[in-house]
Amino acid sequence: MNIAVLSGKGGTGKTTVAVNLARVLHCRYVDSDVEAPNGFLFLQPDIQDKADVSVQIPQIDEQRCNYCLACVKHCQFNALFGTDSSIVFFEKLCHSCGLCSLVCKQNAIKEVPRRVGYVEFGSSAGAECWQGVLIPGEPVTGPVIDALKARLDGDLSIIDCPPGSSCSVVAAADKTDLALLVTEPTPFGVHDLHMAVQVTEKLNLPRAIIINRSEGQDAIIQDYANATGIPIIGRLPFSLEAAQIVSRGELLVDKEEWRQRFQNLAEAVRELIACTS
Ligand code: SF4
Ligand code: SF4
Repeated sequence: MNIAVLSGKGGTGKTTVAVNLARVLHCRYVDSDVEAPNGFLFLQPDIQDKADVSVQIPQIDEQRCNYCLACVKHCQFNALFGTDSSIVFFEKLCHSCGLCSLVCKQNAIKEVPRRVGYVEFGSSAGAECWQGVLIPGEPVTGPVIDALKARLDGDLSIIDCPPGSSCSVVAAADKTDLALLVTEPTPFGVHDLHMAVQVTEKLNLPRAIIINRSEGQDAIIQDYANATGIPIIGRLPFSLEAAQIVSRGELLVDKEEWRQRFQNLAEAVRELIACTS
């Protein structure tokens, strides 16, 4: 069972919910926000394994090349530029589709690996913690997210997705079993919640809403939930104390009052799992 934790925008407390929920559920935490992973700051896992993530890119043998420019014409991403005497390759534009090597009749292109990031595996309080890290400046997150997801098994995992509703979010949430949508009761919150809901609709995921920084009634989110039929399974209150705890890099569940709140949330998640499986 893989549970994706999403938010339509950054700053809603998605990672706060994900790490604390993973701790009370005593399950695997997977940080797939590979451009800015920060869940490990809270969980402080012992790292036990690490693996590089690479993509395949073309390497052109100019001894064999006759500058026919077939590879340049076929590249859909403008990663190749050529003249009648040279070929220039822009590696950051390459999407590793492999088409250039297929169309080269001179057999002048071979594929070679290029490191774009890494994945790390550890444990904290007896539960597994994984994260993917994209090398700064690398434009494509998919290979690092895929490297994480390729290792998922049937064990319960909380997947902390990237914020927003980009293709990175789709890659992280795709083929999960349940989406938890973290939002806040503001006009921006409901706008971006709707974007996250649209992603989960495309992926055909069952979903539920968690309101962070709740001030009680949260009419703006409640109205949206009523209109869409998406259940609200938890409300975490607006709290200066919580902001201070999080800003120190500590887990909320280490405080008794907050532990109880997350245990209630975990119970609601268990009920959802029972309904969806
Ligand atoms: S397709 Fe092959 S031979 Fe033609 S320009 Fe590209 S690398 Fe050179
Ligand atoms: S692998 Fe694909 S994207 Fe990369 S240079 Fe070749 S054709 Fe272009």
